Amino acid sequence: MKVIIADPLPLSAAELLRAEGWTVDARAGRSAAELQADLGAADGLIVRSATQVDADLIAAAPRLRVVARAGTGVDNIDLDAASRRGILVLNAPGANSISVAEHACALMLALARSVPRADASMKDGRWEKKTLHGAELRGKCLGLLGLGRIGREVARRAQAFEMRIVAHDPYISAQIAGDLDVELVTLDALCEQADYISLHLPSTAGTRGLFDSARLARCKRGVRIINTARGDLIDEGGLADAISSGHVAGAGLDVFDTEPPAVATLTHLPEVVATPHIAASTKEAQELVGLETATCVREYLRSGVVRNAVNFPSVSAEEFKRLQPYVSLAERLGSFLAQLTEDRIECVGIRYYGDLAHRNHDMLVGAVLVGLFRAVLSSTVTLVNARSIAQQRGLEIIESHSTRPRNFTSLISVKLHTSSGEHWAEGAVFEPQEPRLVLLDGVEVETPLDGALIVIRNSDQPGVIGEVGTILGRHRVNIATFALGRGAEGAVGVVSVETGSGSSQGVGAELLDEIRRIPAVRQAAIVQL
Ligand code: NAD
Repeated sequence: MKVIIADPLPLSAAELLRAEGWTVDARAGRSAAELQADLGAADGLIVRSATQVDADLIAAAPRLRVVARAGTGVDNIDLDAASRRGILVLNAPGANSISVAEHACALMLALARSVPRADASMKDGRWEKKTLHGAELRGKCLGLLGLGRIGREVARRAQAFEMRIVAHDPYISAQIAGDLDVELVTLDALCEQADYISLHLPSTAGTRGLFDSARLARCKRGVRIINTARGDLIDEGGLADAISSGHVAGAGLDVFDTEPPAVATLTHLPEVVATPHIAASTKEAQELVGLETATCVREYLRSGVVRNAVNFPSVSAEEFKRLQPYVSLAERLGSFLAQLTEDRIECVGIRYYGDLAHRNHDMLVGAVLVGLFRAVLSSTVTLVNARSIAQQRGLEIIESHSTRPRNFTSLISVKLHTSSGEHWAEGAVFEPQEPRLVLLDGVEVETPLDGALIVIRNSDQPGVIGEVGTILGRHRVNIATFALGRGAEGAVGVVSVETGSGSSQGVGAELLDEIRRIPAVRQAAIVQL
């Protein structure tokens, strides 16, 4: 057996594979041509983020059975090309979670006791015993935003400091939070209660700039903010102002909007403790990533055991082709509903009608879950791992199929049961292979599930369409289609808008706010598919 390690990895990873009597060629920095030549006889390839595993490279490796990414993101690997060849792609998510969690705690302690300032003044020859007065963490409230792999580890550690912990994470069940002794609250409640807020959520269209001036103003006076997640979650100018005004007492930052920060406005503030994106940079995290990756490769090549797979749906190529349009529909329905709800999703109900009742439901459930999770998780969610991710997060899945005839040959119905109610969408595939929404919250409304959609719920009265149209026109946003439906509870409108550079300037928060201010409108949201 031959394994190529093409990027720098701790020696222990290669040793683990050599112990099997395998040939391991571990050298970083080869040219693409060199790597192609070396891959001619390789069974496995391990990379970090530097090596581009593209279709050409895969084509040059006739024996290759597994590509492993020592880390989380697999953007540098052509998953489709690998899947077409039957090559397993795997990764090692979460191997650095403890390191990041410990760093978040380090920042929290550094803020509470002004450790960097005290150290700097000592180095300056001063003895500022009186001015550097701290506060205990004991008894304070820590608000965790995101209770995924890292958030959970921070919770465990903060409990040792006797802090009270609340968390906001709409995609985690109350039971999982309860098991961690963490109270799930709304984002507003978290901001009102927390003395420390620590961010552990991914950067997505929905979370970018989450901590802007308005949100910071809603936080408790004297709050301290810790960010080891992604810089763009915070509006840095807003944070600098909130610190200068005294509303925010301090910030511990490992990540920045631009890295390194273009302007040092924030990092120069005495209330800010800053580190250069080093939360995951520990010897242990590097070791663990390498060992975990090598172990998964060994298990697969030695005994066919699949762990941490990110590709590879287990159906025949023929069935996959038949299901493909419905996989796309299911994913879009999941993503559509996920973007319409800010509440905690407790259960997903998926029902198949018509021909689909007899097909491979595993892939369709996987696709709905991929749609639900892709926008909210930092790791790669695929048809292979979506179900186990749902299980880890305590999300209940109820599947059913119905033989009741509907207007379509096949139809998928998805219902999200959330902490505050239900969201329900149904879709069908229209010729030629176009996924369409056909029903929303019980109201018939038909529109392509594609591009940017503004979803409006309003009381059924004249004039609403006109007002919406006027607002969109004023913002120079082109309407592609305007679908309407009427039900007992009111009307539903889905406006498909062109957000390309040519005809419109896109849909911003200001435009949505204007639509929300129309008296008949109860809800307006933008969904990007
Ligand atoms: P994860 O996917 O395990 O957890 C993210 C959590 O955020 C999930 O539970 C998800 O449900 C939740 N979430 C998503 N949208 C949310 C929202 N709008 N409000 C509240 N919660 C929301 O990810 P993780 O491995 O714990 O990573 C967390 C963050 O840390 C990510 O941003 C990741 O990029 C970052 N990270 C930073 C470093 C570093 O070196 N500083 C290293 C690793 C990870």
